[in-house]
Amino acid sequence: MNDFDFEQSQSEKNEYDELWSEILQELETTISAVSFDVFIKSMKPLTVKDEKLVLMCETNANKAVIVKNYLKQINAAISKKFAHLSALIITSSEKDEFISKPDEFLDLVPSPPEQPVSSIFNSKYTFDNFVVGKSNQFVYAAARAVTENTGNSYNPLFIYGGVGLGKTHIMHAVGNYITKKRPELKVLYVTSERFMNELIDSIRSGNRDRSNSMNFRNRYRNIDILMVDDIQFIANKTSTQEEFFHTFNDLHDKGKQIIISSDRPPKEINPLEERLRSRFGWGLIADIQPPDFETRLAILQKKSLLQNYNISDEVLAYIAEQNDTNVRVLEENLTRVYFHSKLFEEPLTVELAGKVLKDSTGEANETLSIDVIIDTCCRYYKVTREEMFGKKKNKEIVYPRQMCIYLITEILSMPLASIGQIFGGRDHTTIMYARDKIAGELKNNPHIKTACQDIRNIIYKK
Ligand code: ADP
Ligand code: MG
Repeated sequence: MNDFDFEQSQSEKNEYDELWSEILQELETTISAVSFDVFIKSMKPLTVKDEKLVLMCETNANKAVIVKNYLKQINAAISKKFAHLSALIITSSEKDEFISKPDEFLDLVPSPPEQPVSSIFNSKYTFDNFVVGKSNQFVYAAARAVTENTGNSYNPLFIYGGVGLGKTHIMHAVGNYITKKRPELKVLYVTSERFMNELIDSIRSGNRDRSNSMNFRNRYRNIDILMVDDIQFIANKTSTQEEFFHTFNDLHDKGKQIIISSDRPPKEINPLEERLRSRFGWGLIADIQPPDFETRLAILQKKSLLQNYNISDEVLAYIAEQNDTNVRVLEENLTRVYFHSKLFEEPLTVELAGKVLKDSTGEANETLSIDVIIDTCCRYYKVTREEMFGKKKNKEIVYPRQMCIYLITEILSMPLASIGQIFGGRDHTTIMYARDKIAGELKNNPHIKTACQDIRNIIYKK
């Protein structure tokens, strides 16, 4: 319960106001204006606890109306923005009781039955935006084939390749394509880490409430396409492997499509149950190799076209020459060169690119330590490490803390629980919340986007 500080709830504004106002915007479009004004707008967010956004309304009568008539819409609006959250409605007079005994409230309210819904996919990760070359054409063709003919020959489709070579992009491309072309199909995308965390949560709460573990099963078994990203993280996780084995069998028996990605082939995931390993090879195993120079150049051309960067092919070719393993690094180098020239109003030449990229080549994500990220965030926002890891909830600290957490989850493949440990023993849902919060802001708030880019640039220049 250490992520949970009620001091802030005493003040007028708290860090959940922003989250709630985003959800309100969504609700305004689904609830009639009068009801919205009377029942919805007047609620105040108190906190987030056990994946519940706790909302206070004025009276018992209001609570009854809201729960009966609007809870479904409220939950739908919440999950559109923050997939793992749902609402818990209390009255303002129940606030103190909730603060002293939150578990009693949380126990009382069963989680809403999780409707199997399609995931929301990154709209930039489409087949159209994926540059096909020798290194990835096999995976590309296999993924396209799967979208045309799900659950048949390539089941599972097992994609493997190094960091930053487009595995996640391809999975989102499948998701975007299916959502658009075959909306009747339900596509679920999860990282293996998220699968594991949801399983742990369901086991934990399942001890009190059986419907929770049923929800977990229903969620994963009533879908048409399941995509699990970065499956290598389930090595060594016995109960996750066990549950995934049953999920796999259930879906496969029903002819549902499974797509798995990994940074290595099945035989190199260790330790992994043999029965799971053999199933990974039942369909098609396809690898993505690092792109050759022509493909790297084509990726940079596409990217600069999409971003309206207007950079000469000569400069793009120079950037393409500097890196031959990781497309993400390639993209970051492009962005850095571009922003450097904008920021300092210098012409975009090969010399400039050389200057900007000097010292950075070959510096892959893995070599970045968590310390570098934390230090950079502390310096950027002028907060101390103590404040970063501490309990203060004022905006000046909360936002840098969330940004720092976001960057760590983005740059390093570190379990959320371990990040939580570093950040003063917060639990993984708090880390997840911080991450999703910034991810959401990045889409809508140009200032946050710029700050995030600035910090990344500093981090990678080290
Ligand atoms: P992985 O999941 O394999 O680590 P990602 O899918 O996250 O890699 O890709 C890293 C970045 O590189 C993403 O921004 C992605 O859009 C981009 N990328 C990778 N391969 C390609 C490609 N062939 N064409 C266009 N962009 C690509
Ligand atoms: Mg990935």
